[in-house]
Amino acid sequence: MIRHLSLLAFLSGAMMAQEPLPLVIAHRGASGYLPEHTLAAKAYAHALGVDFIEQDIVLSKDGVPVVMHDIEIETVTDVARRFPGRNRANGHYYAIDFTLAELRQLRLTERMDPATGKAVYPDRFPLWKSAFGLPTLEEELELIAGLNRSTGRRTGIYPELKSPGWHRREGKDLSAIVLPILARHGYRSRSDPFFLQCFEFEEIKRLRGELGFKGRLVQLIGRHGGSEPDASGKTGGARDNAMLLTRDGLASIAAVADGIGPAFSHLVSTDPAGGVRINEVVDLAHRAGLVVHPYTFRADALPRFVADAEDLLGLLFVNAQVDGVFADHPDRVLRYLQRMRE
Ligand code: CA
Repeated sequence: MIRHLSLLAFLSGAMMAQEPLPLVIAHRGASGYLPEHTLAAKAYAHALGVDFIEQDIVLSKDGVPVVMHDIEIETVTDVARRFPGRNRANGHYYAIDFTLAELRQLRLTERMDPATGKAVYPDRFPLWKSAFGLPTLEEELELIAGLNRSTGRRTGIYPELKSPGWHRREGKDLSAIVLPILARHGYRSRSDPFFLQCFEFEEIKRLRGELGFKGRLVQLIGRHGGSEPDASGKTGGARDNAMLLTRDGLASIAAVADGIGPAFSHLVSTDPAGGVRINEVVDLAHRAGLVVHPYTFRADALPRFVADAEDLLGLLFVNAQVDGVFADHPDRVLRYLQRMRE
């Protein structure tokens, strides 16, 4: 099933580019091995030799960008214990309701279900062990720059603006705060080693237009709503996502962005017999001039349509010829690509 020859041709062509291809992006750091978005998870990802390390960005009450996956913080911290009663009426605790000084008092842990207290991925780093805290965006950029300097590598960053529409409704302009910080740390143009990503197409257009952003932009495609499902603001729906993946939709993305970040499920179709095949999305995106970086490779939570991790990686890199992948277990992807190159 795996067409090694076509992959070899693809890889040897790609290796002439400035960045290796396909790109391996550490999703929330090496989050399969250490609690997501901790500096430890980022340092470990860097040591594994990934090409890019991801940062999800939300704002504190005093407007400081911090690295966190959700605008709500109870799934990876002890906020409910440390600041009881500081939740909103819907039960959630929001980063934006806490100053940076308060957020710094939180203890970070492996992702859990706050209702049951159980780990979401039971075989990963144990809950509430060791000592992890919440990094600001600048602290993480300094970590990666420092590691690049001490190792001689040029590992890139892959920041995501989380729910900018929601932040705006809360009175804060996430993009306008983050762009100058990225620029100050050397991330400005398409030749700098970074991609900026967002689920909200309106914000992608605003970044390129009103905010004059000159770096590479990736339009994320949500599985359900226009943003990843969160408890607070939906911005669009499944129909908007389907629209973005049509020929016209991809052309409208290509007018302002450089790539798309779809879910794996966006790239496959099932036939009536129950078989799975790669659909036309990657091909249409490539024809529109967009790179395709789907999410998320998790060795311990594979999609139903593959038999094992190897099967998924073959489907992605050989059959679909994607340009990169977000991975919780990036070493598994790096090893697969290394074997294909040998
Ligand atoms: Ca993300």
